[in-house]
Amino acid sequence: MEAPVMFDLASVQNHKSWERNGQLPTVGNNDQHCLVCNRPMKDEDNTWAHMSVMGELFPADYDNWEDPDSQGCFPVGNSCKKKIPAAYLLKSL
Ligand SMILES: [Zn+2]
Repeated sequence: MEAPVMFDLASVQNHKSWERNGQLPTVGNNDQHCLVCNRPMKDEDNTWAHMSVMGELFPADYDNWEDPDSQGCFPVGNSCKKKIPAAYLLKSL
């Protein structure tokens, strides 16, 4: 299998806001935080991104879930998903 073309997540993360948002309380019973800005998220807002152990994103059509570099999927908030190319976002799991 060909190696997928990865998206560099760090290129869209703001590390100052990441640290600040990590102090915010969770929303309801949900302890999910946005992968880009670390803000707490509501479940229904979720779009997902498939992240590697290197912190890069797999393309959405890459479906090798057994890839040893896969860390699984993480949520991305509504405003932050605009910073990630659509080809790297999953609408559902
Ligand atoms: Zn965000």
